[in-house]
Amino acid sequence: MAPPKPAGNPGVVVGLEPSEDRPSGAPRPAGRRPSKAEGKGDDYFVEKDGLSYAGTHLLIDLWGAKGLDDAEVVETALKRSVAACDATLLNLHLHRFSDQGGISGVAVIAESHIGIHTWPERGYAAIDIFMCGACDPYRAIPELRRSFAPRSIQISEQKRGLASPEWFLERLHTGYRQGFEVTRTLHRQKTEFQELVIFDTPTFGRVLVLDGVLQTTEADEYFYHEMLAHPPLLAHGAVGDVLIIGGGDGGTLREVLKHRNIRRVTIVEIDADVVENCRRYLPSISKGAFEDRRTELVFADGVAFVAETKDKFDLIIVDSTDPTGPGEALFEERFYADCKAGLKEKGILVTQNGVPFLQGAELATSYRRLKSLFADATFYLTAVPSYVGGFMALGWASTEAANRRVPLETLETRFAEAAIETRYYTPAVHLAAFALPRYIMDGME
Ligand code: SAM
Repeated sequence: MAPPKPAGNPGVVVGLEPSEDRPSGAPRPAGRRPSKAEGKGDDYFVEKDGLSYAGTHLLIDLWGAKGLDDAEVVETALKRSVAACDATLLNLHLHRFSDQGGISGVAVIAESHIGIHTWPERGYAAIDIFMCGACDPYRAIPELRRSFAPRSIQISEQKRGLASPEWFLERLHTGYRQGFEVTRTLHRQKTEFQELVIFDTPTFGRVLVLDGVLQTTEADEYFYHEMLAHPPLLAHGAVGDVLIIGGGDGGTLREVLKHRNIRRVTIVEIDADVVENCRRYLPSISKGAFEDRRTELVFADGVAFVAETKDKFDLIIVDSTDPTGPGEALFEERFYADCKAGLKEKGILVTQNGVPFLQGAELATSYRRLKSLFADATFYLTAVPSYVGGFMALGWASTEAANRRVPLETLETRFAEAAIETRYYTPAVHLAAFALPRYIMDGME
C-alpha cells in the first residue's frame, strides 16, 4: 500500500515499506548549495511550492536493527549519512553506555545535526536529522539501511521555520473579526483622510481597505456596484445626469457609464489617493471609467459639494465608507436634505447603508432621516460575500413613489434596450431586492 502523502507542517508520520525511503510528495531538493558555514552569505531558507522554510527535519525510528551497540558501525553510519546528504561534518561525538549497551551520539554538521540514540536489546534506534537549506536528509536513509539493516523504518517529517501566512483581520463589528490571508501587500499609505491598504488575497483577489475596513474586492465587487447603479437607473428610465459621492475605486462609475443615455457623471471623492491607487492597483474595477468623456471627477468633501452645487441630477448615488471617519457626515440629515435639493423631478437617491444584521443602528437612523424628507423611502438588498453578516441594505429615497412600482415587463424592456452586461443584476433580482425580511422591517421602526 502506498504511504500517505506528507502534508508539511504539522509533522506527519509516514510508514515506509522497506524498499521505499522517500514518501511521495516529500521534498527532493536539487543539488547541494553551499552551507552557511562556508560563508556564501545566504540564509539558506528553502523556497519550494510557494513555501519558504528553514529546512527539513526527519524523525526516524529503526526497528529490528543490527549493530546498535557497535560504535564503529554507528560512526560509519553517521559519516556516510552526512556525505550522502552533501552536508558538511564539523564534529562527531559518540558515547557508549556499556559493553552491550546502547550508544548516544551526534554528528554536528554545518547544516545542523544528526542525532542517534540506540536500544540494542530492542533492536531499536531513534534518529533525528535536521538539515537547513537544500540539503536533503532523505538521502541518509539508504545509508542507515545499509549500516543497520532494520526490519522497518518509520519517518516523520517536519518543515522547520515555516513562516505563518500574514492575515488581515477586519474589526468593523464589535466582537467579530473577518480574516483574509494576505499574499502580497501592494500599497500602504496614511492619506490626508484615512489609512489606505491594497493587498492580494488567494480567495477574493485584490482588496482595498480604508481605516481597517474592507471597501471592495476584485472577486465580489459587482454584487455591490451593479446594485447601486442599475436599479435606480432602470427604475427611472431616463437618467441623464448622475452624481456619485465617494466611490473612489470607480466601480459604481463603471456601472453607471454602461448606460448609453447618460450625459454626465460627476463623481465627488474626498480622497485623491484612493482614486490614484485604485486606478493603479485595481484597474479592473474602474475599467477606464475615469477616462470616459462623460466623467467629471471632483476631489472634494461630498457634504460641502451637495450643499453648494447649483447643478441638478436625476440620480445621486452615495457610495460611501461606513459612518465613521470622513464618511460620517454622509449619513446626516443635513446631507440627505441637500441631496434632495440637488435632485431633479422624479430624481432618486441611493445610499450604502451597511449590513443590517450587524449594523442595525445605522439602518434605523438612516431610515428615520430619509423617511422624513422623501416621498418614498425604503431599503433594497444585495448580499456581498465580503461584507460579512448577510444582506447589505442600500437606501432608496425617491421624490416619487412610482419609481419603485415599475413592473417587471417594463424593467425587462429597459434592460434589453440598454443592452448592458451584468453578473448580479437582472430585472427579477431588481424587484426581489425590495422584498425585506422581517428582521430588517422591524429594524426600520
Ligand atoms: N463599497 C464600499 C463600502 O461599502 O465599504 C465603499 C467604497 S468607496 C471606495 C468609499 C469612498 O468614499 C472612499 O473612497 C472614501 O474616500 C469616500 N468618502 C468618504 N467620505 C467622503 C466624503 N465626505 N466625501 C466624499 N467621499 C468620501
